Amino acid sequence: MREAGDMDLLRIWQEVDIKDVQEHLLMADDLFGFCPGCKTPGLKLQDLHKCPTCSREFKYVTSKDARGGKSAEVVMRFKKKLPHLTFVDYDDYERLSSKNKAADLFKNM
Ligand SMILES: [Zn+2]
Repeated sequence: MREAGDMDLLRIWQEVDIKDVQEHLLMADDLFGFCPGCKTPGLKLQDLHKCPTCSREFKYVTSKDARGGKSAEVVMRFKKKLPHLTFVDYDDYERLSSKNKAADLFKNM
């Protein structure tokens, strides 16, 4: 069997419930995580399952650092620290979230 570190990465398009992603997302940079739920910064990434402040359960992780040419390397580093989380493309997430925000806005008019 191949070790996790030897695996290749393939981006797969998947149908998602954007609300579920928003509620279980961890934002991260190279070193630390940020909980969008309670705005706690500086979370240690290694095996992070829950926000220590608000108990948000993390299922997804995204990072601005994974944009551009180095994305595969960056995602692989996150995969090693957080093998239980699904990596979400940052731009995809932003696009969907803002589309959703706009839809909510119109609903309330
Ligand atoms: Zn939190």
